[in-house]
Amino acid sequence: MPLPAVIAAILTFGCASSASAETSGERDWHYRDGETAENWSAANPRYAMCDRGTMQSPIDLSAVATRGTARFATAYGPAIAKLTVGPGKVKIAADEGMGLIHGGRLFPLRQVHFHTPAEHKIHGKLYPLAAHFVHATDDGELTVLGVTFEAGAANPALQTILDAATNGADNVELDFAQLAPRDPAVYRYMGSLTTPPCSEGVNWFVADTVMTASQEQIAAMTDRLGTSNRSLQPLNGRLVLAPEN
Ligand SMILES: [Zn+2]
Repeated sequence: MPLPAVIAAILTFGCASSASAETSGERDWHYRDGETAENWSAANPRYAMCDRGTMQSPIDLSAVATRGTARFATAYGPAIAKLTVGPGKVKIAADEGMGLIHGGRLFPLRQVHFHTPAEHKIHGKLYPLAAHFVHATDDGELTVLGVTFEAGAANPALQTILDAATNGADNVELDFAQLAPRDPAVYRYMGSLTTPPCSEGVNWFVADTVMTASQEQIAAMTDRLGTSNRSLQPLNGRLVLAPEN
């Protein structure tokens, strides 16, 4: 059975991209300054949801009042993964066997990609780097885990990815578990893909624990990705669960 289009898109591109971009290999949309709305529906009517949707991502998670424990678990580990590097894109496809468990269901990990700076705002600020772990079931239900990085100790898996990108390698051998905090407390809400077509119904988890990457690693990733964070989107009364302290 062919995979739903949204899964095919996330396998090919970042969070997702359009069929037209898929065939041309170029994006027909661009980021703004991180605060001004992107207005992607004007770039392509297929992206209407980006501006008309009411459950869009990313959001500011700093001021969330509802607290509780979101039950989930991740299963990441060592793998040889396909690396895709392009304009505004550094992505590693995931091996089978990894995933996120939530609500008694396994969401298989499809790919991990990066944004500079981070997209969700936590602890009152935008951190310089985020990794998005994109999971999808075969019937197209999406779950994304956002992991945020600040300047500090170097991250070994990130270095492996950066070295492979510099060397033009097609595959990279790394431990996916090194890119995410172990058993993190998470924010939980329903949102969207943060790139066109901005499809909604995405189960978002954002780790409260901030990882570190070295200044050099953050700079190298920023050099490759440029500004790659969508502007913050209105909450529109959505329930957001923040981790209990
Ligand atoms: Zn993303």
